[in-house]
Amino acid sequence: MKPKVFITRELFGESVDRISQYYEVDVWDRYHQPPYEVLLRKAREADALVSLLTDRIDCNLLRNSPRLRMVAQYAVGFDNIDVDCATRLGVYVTNTPGVLTEATAELTWALILAVSRRIVESDVFVRWGEWYRSGTAWHPKMMLGFELMGKVLGVVGLGRIGRRVAEIGARGFGMKIIYYDVVRNYEAEKEIGAEFRELRELLREADVVTIHVPLTPQTRYLIDESALRLMKKTAILINTARGAVVDTGALVKALREGWIAGAGLDVFEEEPLSPNHPLTALKNLVLVPHIGSATYEARRAMADAVADNLIAFYEGRVPPNLVNRDVVNLRSPGFSK
Ligand code: NAP
Repeated sequence: MKPKVFITRELFGESVDRISQYYEVDVWDRYHQPPYEVLLRKAREADALVSLLTDRIDCNLLRNSPRLRMVAQYAVGFDNIDVDCATRLGVYVTNTPGVLTEATAELTWALILAVSRRIVESDVFVRWGEWYRSGTAWHPKMMLGFELMGKVLGVVGLGRIGRRVAEIGARGFGMKIIYYDVVRNYEAEKEIGAEFRELRELLREADVVTIHVPLTPQTRYLIDESALRLMKKTAILINTARGAVVDTGALVKALREGWIAGAGLDVFEEEPLSPNHPLTALKNLVLVPHIGSATYEARRAMADAVADNLIAFYEGRVPPNLVNRDVVNLRSPGFSK
């Protein structure tokens, strides 16, 4: 009998076909995520789960799923999963690193450019007739933004995505790169001339601050009111990592009161964001709905990576993108033991 996998949303067909050669597949084919109660019930009957960042895979669920051996996350971030609990229970957790780096780095640049050159504001200005009503085709002071060449890009978290964003900044826009991370990246320092800074120094110095750390207990509200107050009045903040890395209440204040010049956000503390949220009333802000990895290329490759991880585990191999390496000491990969 094939082991059972519950997939919490429709993935690209080819990958599901590959998975079905090894697993009995149950796909949640609705647009909305399965409610927690459904997830609990499905997980209880499953040998493996394919989860999304919106699925809460907590210790309660893991403890109540005696057959469950693997959680294959369809994302690089896995802050929705209690990984420590999974490790204790011998459940393998995998993610999809690397294949969405380009997509997320490109979206980060889309936001940097949209904010620095007021693209969304300008689109509304044209589309809603304000330009036409103004009766002026061109004015020396219309929709002024700022240039990036020679400015300072401050990267918070120089991992895969942060490194790629930094590279585009250095090579494409001639920016000076400074970064903050838990570890020094000497390769990036050499290759793109990135300079290490403590976080507070980085915030004081950067013209563009871009966040690329994972959400962990250490990074929750890393950018709080005191951090925002350190930034230049002319600087912008970009967040394509996770909403809770930034204190949203403090950011609203910072934008309203002009402590910083603008922001671009792909991620929010609460998703989906309510249209009544105070963020939506601010002009110097570009908002997109968590689309960092939303390219055909990345989403296909993420589904492929999920299939690779599931198949490796089925065949008794350590999955290529294993998150909790210690689990191997507790239980061998595969369903036979
Ligand atoms: P990554 O390669 O692991 O990069 C994260 C970097 O942050 C690493 O260098 C890491 O250092 C560092 N870091 C961890 N904790 C830190 C701390 N407390 N202070 C400073 N630096 C810290 O991950 P990635 O592939 O670049 O992805 C980064 C994050 O982006 C993901 O975790 C995910 O939440 C988010 N993301 C969002 C989207 C989207 O759709 N918007 C798409 C993809 C990813 P160590 O390696 O030493 O821990």
